[in-house]
Amino acid sequence: MLRWAEIDLNAIKSNLKAIKNKVGKRKIIAVVKANAYGHGAIPVARAIAEQTDMFAVATLEEAIELREAGITLPILNLFSILPDQAEAVLKYEITQAVCKLSTCEAISDCAKQASPRVRGERGGGDIAKVHVEVDTGMNRLGVHYSEAVSFLKQVCALPNLRVEGIFTHFSSADEVDKSYTNLQLERFNSLWKPELGFRISDFGIKRNNSLIPPSAFRLPPSVHLERSAFLIHAANSPAILDLPSTYFDAVRPGLILHGLYPSDEVSRSIPLKPALSLKTRVIHLKNVVSGESISYNRRYITLASTKIATLSIGYADGYRTSLRNIGEALIRGARAPIVGTICMDNIMCDVGHIPDVGIGDEVVLIGKQGDDEITADEVAKKAGTISYDIFCGLGRRVERIYIDG
Ligand SMILES: *Cc1c(COP(=O)(O)O)cnc(C)c1O
Repeated sequence: MLRWAEIDLNAIKSNLKAIKNKVGKRKIIAVVKANAYGHGAIPVARAIAEQTDMFAVATLEEAIELREAGITLPILNLFSILPDQAEAVLKYEITQAVCKLSTCEAISDCAKQASPRVRGERGGGDIAKVHVEVDTGMNRLGVHYSEAVSFLKQVCALPNLRVEGIFTHFSSADEVDKSYTNLQLERFNSLWKPELGFRISDFGIKRNNSLIPPSAFRLPPSVHLERSAFLIHAANSPAILDLPSTYFDAVRPGLILHGLYPSDEVSRSIPLKPALSLKTRVIHLKNVVSGESISYNRRYITLASTKIATLSIGYADGYRTSLRNIGEALIRGARAPIVGTICMDNIMCDVGHIPDVGIGDEVVLIGKQGDDEITADEVAKKAGTISYDIFCGLGRRVERIYIDG
């Protein structure tokens, strides 16, 4: 094995525990989209399924992958589908995020024609579950907050559809300045103002653990909201760290579950352990004289005679081309600078200062070796991006190895 990622499932479990300590009784919607941020959706989901209330993914395919792996927990597909994908929502019992009536109608029609999951439970088809996304300022998906209440009433009037949640997404919770997040929160909270008919205050339910009463939706008698299943949620990783007022009934941790803080501007209010290490091996070594160029287009020229190691990883594996001449690797516990252009399948580093480097030596590009550590944040900063992007960019050739128990 010449390039691999070691994923410590114990770290992920420990991060989840720490998140739960922080958010109290709120439900956990563990976000495992994009192959669990490159960590492997199935092993990650299996490792935490018993401690989690729901999973969230980004596509129906990701949801189906989890179902086919035997995950039986509710799975929320966070992003809109097109009407012709409604059938899969029913077939795999996915909870679908919605913000367009036409999609809701398609899901409702499909549900009406589907056979009920539990025989004899209900006549006239199955029940599809949806969460309504409210756009409070992200301007990506969601129904505009000013139209959300009338939208909810329309959706709730559709047969064979059950609204099991309402959520919003913050655009800037990872910044020091929380004013925009607070504005988004205010817009979200305006949905349950008494004059709009949501009257949660009448039910003596606290805002921070709010449940919208079924009566608020004037539901047709055939459809009911199970209050215990109904979730209001908003908090992504940065909001979980810094804004308890956003917790509502459930939180949606993604990055922090995998052990990284979303930015330098969020507090370290939850102890996290990075779960992923990226490793490769030295596959070639050579001595070069001063003035030699290394790799494509001669972007690095040696300043003295030295020793160059070739590593078996490249941009096809997710090691960014922007790390040319600035990336670092840990070899024998020491830092070795990446020199020259990053190739598709290889990178070179200068190991002239490290004694006894040998062919086959283990090399760490993200993670610990000896007393030193290269964090995903360090790599991301040098590459001009964020750790999310580095993780999601890890390629298929990077074998995932799991440490558990
Ligand atoms: C990705 C995503 C999350 C998780 O975000 P993190 O910052 O990784 O916690 C939560 N909600 C939605 C809608 C998302 O798209």
